[in-house]
Amino acid sequence: MKKTLYIVVPCYNEEECLNETTKRLSKKLDNLVEANVIDKKSRIVYVDDGSKDKTWEKIESFGGPVIGVKLSRNRGHQNALLAGLMYAKEHADVVISMDADLQDDIDAIDKMLDKFADGYEIVYGVRSERKNDTTFKRNTALAFYKLMNKLGAEVVYNSADYRLMSKRALEELAEYKEVNLFLRGLVPLIGLKSTKVEYPRAERFAGESKYPLKKMVKFAWDGITSFSIKPIRMILWLGVIIFFISLVITLYALIMKLLGNVVSGWTFIICSIWILGGLQMISLGLVGEYIGKIYAESKHRPRYTIEKIIGE
Ligand code: UDP
Ligand code: MG
Repeated sequence: MKKTLYIVVPCYNEEECLNETTKRLSKKLDNLVEANVIDKKSRIVYVDDGSKDKTWEKIESFGGPVIGVKLSRNRGHQNALLAGLMYAKEHADVVISMDADLQDDIDAIDKMLDKFADGYEIVYGVRSERKNDTTFKRNTALAFYKLMNKLGAEVVYNSADYRLMSKRALEELAEYKEVNLFLRGLVPLIGLKSTKVEYPRAERFAGESKYPLKKMVKFAWDGITSFSIKPIRMILWLGVIIFFISLVITLYALIMKLLGNVVSGWTFIICSIWILGGLQMISLGLVGEYIGKIYAESKHRPRYTIEKIIGE
C-alpha cells in the first residue's frame, strides 16, 4: 500500500516565501504521486506561528493539497513545528518537516523517502555545505553543535529541523512531554533505525531570517540547559579544586605566620576566606546535583523505547 506523506512547514511572517514554497512543494507532491511513491492523500501542512503579516491569508487562499494550522499566537519555531508534527501523525504514515524559506533542498525529499522505503524510521537532512550562510552564522552554528555534544546532548552534526519521521517515530516523540522543546536533541533520544541524507543548503528565498541573534542565543541556551546538568557539575568540581587550593594557602599562611613577618589576624582571615569559599562552592554543587535530578524527573521522559519484540 502506498504511504501518505505530510510535509510540515512552520511559518512566521513568511508571506514573501509562501507562494514559491507552495508551488515547488505541490509540484514535488504531484511528481511523487505520479511516480507511485506516495499516496494521493499526501498533504502540505503550514503551521502559522502567530504571524503578524498576511501569512495566514495566504495559507487560506491556496487550497489544493495545502492544510493550514493556525496557532493562537507566536510560540516559537520549535513549538510550531511540534504542533504540526503532532497534527500530521494522526493522518500520515510518514512526515517530513522543513522550513518555509526554501533553504532546505526540496529534492532531498526523494532521497529521504528512499531511505524510508528501506525501513528507516528517522532520516536526518544534513547540510553538506553552508556556503550560503554568513560566516558568522556558520561558525556560531558549528561551535554550538560541538559544544552541545561535549556537554552530553546528542545532536546530529550540521542537521537542523529538516528530517523525515515515520508515524511510529512520531508516536514515540509524543511521549516526551517536556515544555522546553529542543527537537534536535530529542529526536536522537528516540533511537530507532535512523540515517542521514546530505543536501546543499541554499539561500533564503525571500525575507529575513526569523532567528535574530537574540533568538539564536536563547535557542542554544535552551538546548544546553534542557539536555545537560554538566554546568552544575562544573560548580562541584570548581568547589573541590578551590578547597584543595585552600589547603595549600593555609599551609603557606601558617609558614608565613611562623616566620613572623605578617600582620596579626592575617592568617586567620586568609584561611577562612579560602576554606569557606571552597566549602560553599562544593555545597552549591551538591544542592545543584539534586536540582539536576529533580529537573530530569520533572521532564517525565520515557525511560526506554522498545524497538521490537520477537517470539511472542
Ligand atoms: N519560525 C517560526 N516561528 C518563529 C521563528 C521562525 O515558525 O518564531 C519558522 C520560520 O518561518 C521558518 C523556520 O522557522 O520556516 C526557520 O526560520 P528561519 O529560516 O528564519 O531561520 P534560519 O534559517 O535563519 O536559521
Ligand atoms: Mg532559514
